[in-house]
Formats: sequence, C-alpha cells, structure tokens
Amino acid sequence: MNVTARWITRLILILVLVLIAAGIRVLGKRFLHTGDRSVVSYVFDSFAMGTVLTVKVRTADKTLAEKAAKLASAEMHRIHKIFDPYDPESEISYLNRIRGSDSVISVSPDMARVLGEALHIRKLSRGTFEPTLGELIQLWGFNDQPRRPRIPDTLRIAALVDSLSGAEGIELIDEGISVRIAPGTGALDVGGIAKGYGVDRVVAVLAGIRIKNALVNLGGEIGVLGVGSNGRSWRIGVQHPRKNSYHLGVIDQVEGMFVATSGDYERFFLEKGRRYHHILDPTTGYPTSRGTVSATVIASSCLVADALATSAFVMGPGEGIRFLDSLGVHGLVVYAADGDTESGNLAYSATRNFLRIMEPDLDGLPINPP
Ligand code: ADP
Ligand code: MG
Repeated sequence: MNVTARWITRLILILVLVLIAAGIRVLGKRFLHTGDRSVVSYVFDSFAMGTVLTVKVRTADKTLAEKAAKLASAEMHRIHKIFDPYDPESEISYLNRIRGSDSVISVSPDMARVLGEALHIRKLSRGTFEPTLGELIQLWGFNDQPRRPRIPDTLRIAALVDSLSGAEGIELIDEGISVRIAPGTGALDVGGIAKGYGVDRVVAVLAGIRIKNALVNLGGEIGVLGVGSNGRSWRIGVQHPRKNSYHLGVIDQVEGMFVATSGDYERFFLEKGRRYHHILDPTTGYPTSRGTVSATVIASSCLVADALATSAFVMGPGEGIRFLDSLGVHGLVVYAADGDTESGNLAYSATRNFLRIMEPDLDGLPINPP
C-alpha cells in the first residue's frame, strides 16, 4: 500500500469513528428522552375519612408509585383511627369517655398537634371554630354511618348549647403531651381539622420515601410535592359549590402551599326548601345561616387551612374575610347574594391577595370540557 492509500484508509477510519461517536450521542439523547417521557402520573383513588382520597404520583418508577399509594392509604387510616369519634376504640373516643374526670391524661403526638392547633384557632376565631361540638354533631346525624341526618328537637339543641362550656375546659399540659378536660366540656369532634392534618401527614410520608412530585387530595383538602406535568406547578380546580361538574377556578399550587375548602354541598339535606348542612354555629347549635356556601383557604399547612376554612365558613363573607386577612392567609368565601342559598344567585368575597392566585368564575368552568 503506498503512502496516499494509507492516508485515505486512515481518513476513512477517522470518519467512521466520528460517525460512531455521533451516533452514540444521538442514541444516548434518545434514551435520555425516552427516560423523561417514561415519567408518568399514577393515580390512586381510595376511600378514607368518609370521603375520597386521591393520590397522584409522577414518577418513572411504577413500584415506587404503588408503594406511595399503599403508605398514603395506611397513614390516612391510621389518622382516622385516632380521630374517629364514632369508633369506640379511637383515642378521641377514649378522651370523650374520661372527660370530666379531671385527671391528667397523656396523648399521642398526633392528638397533641391537632388539639393544640384546634384550641389555638378556636381562640383566634373567637369560638366560631369549636372542637367540642360532638354531642350536637351526633344529634344532627350528619356524620352517622349510614348517614341519616334529621332536624333535632329544638329544646334538645338549646339544652346542649346552654349546658356545654366549649373547649374552655381543656387544658394542655407540658406542651400538649397531656391534657385535662374539666367537667361540663362538650365531646371532642375534630372533623373540621382532622382531614387537613391527614393531608399534611400523607405529604410528609411521601416526602419521606423520596417521592419528588405528588398530589394528595382528600375531598377538597389538597397538598402537593414538587411539580405536575411538563414541570409546571400543580393545577388544582376548586369545586363550584352548586354545579357538580364545574370548577370555580383553578389554582397553580406549589409545594408548601395547602388548599382547603369547606362547603354546604357535601353533607346536607333540604327540608321545606331550606338547606341543613354539617357546619354548625356554636352559638345556636344550628347549621350556620350567614349565607355562606363555601369557603376556601390557602395556608402553609393543610391542618391550618382546614380549620380556617371552617372558621371563615361560620363567620360568613364579611367577618370571615376580615379574619383571614388579619392572619395574612389567602381566602375566598362564596355566599348567597340575596341571602337564599338555594336561589342560585351567588357572590364572593376574597382576601386582598386571593384574586391574584385565582379569579373565581361564578358561572363555572366545566371540569371536563368537551
Ligand atoms: P368539609 O367536610 O366540607 O371539609 P369542614 O372542614 O368545615 O368541612 O368540616 C366539617 C366538620 O367539622 C363537621 O362534619 C363537624 O365534624 C365539624 N364541625 C362542624 N361545625 C364546626 C364548628 N363550628 N367548628 C369546628 N368544627 C365543626
Ligand atoms: Mg375544615
């Protein structure tokens, strides 16, 4: 082989090597791309705390997603087991049985956290959030299984409102690891805060197994981790209070921001054109009557968002929004413009910054547009 021929062979060899290297790069990119694309949303629905628990996990690892769903459901059931006032074996039922004995009882860390926050928000809300309405809630039957709500006898309602001293008689000892409940204190019912706490716990459990991107929705109480599809913040629809398959609007929810909604549309009955729902006014013992239809709060934990949504619901659009503004949280109260919650004539009132996050559409946005 002469020199020229040798050079030509070398050149061809170099060319082939360059082409192979380029090919590897292109293929590599392809695989990377396929890797990205294999991140998909796994959605798991189950039943917990009397409502639907949806856990959405975005990952390429199906086994991890399934593990997440299992742990989420187990954690929610663990929380329910502590706070279910209808289960005689729950911790809350135990406290209700021995309340009034004036003894000091140590409680679980979950109970300490929920009771501590419930009493704090009770104080802030001047008693509109009241975690000792157990007897009244049972009397109305909104949370009975099976549900059989009814209008109770007026005198029985009045007697309970007069005789129960509210949570005034609950004393938290040693930063809440123990409690003492004075005689005359009503039965504990933390239904207005426990679902939010459950969402906080499930989000923490998912973070603990290194789930990066997830959404937890327990009947409208919502927490997220990371981002949703296309790497953008999670988009969360807020239920329209009178149109089943419509949203009031959509919130771009980011990690560390929790959303809770209290509404008169999930547990209620109508009698003689009047709606009786499960959020009670502690001063009357009847479902609140300030025309509120739903209240949505955004806060830095779901437990707080949940309790504040219940408080704002009871307070109504004027006082409720002033209250949320004074705490620096974002909130929205939808109410009956003419005072009649059944006329369909709705209006809303929002905190200063809420409208920057979501502009409510009272006509509703179809959830699954055609
Ligand atoms: P939702 O179930 O729509 O999320 P809430 O978070 O407001 O609504 O919870 C309602 C539950 O809170 C009721 O079922 C009852 O257990 C409890 N509850 C009712 N009225 C009050 C109140 N004034 N303060 C605290 N808890 C309440
Ligand atoms: Mg609540």
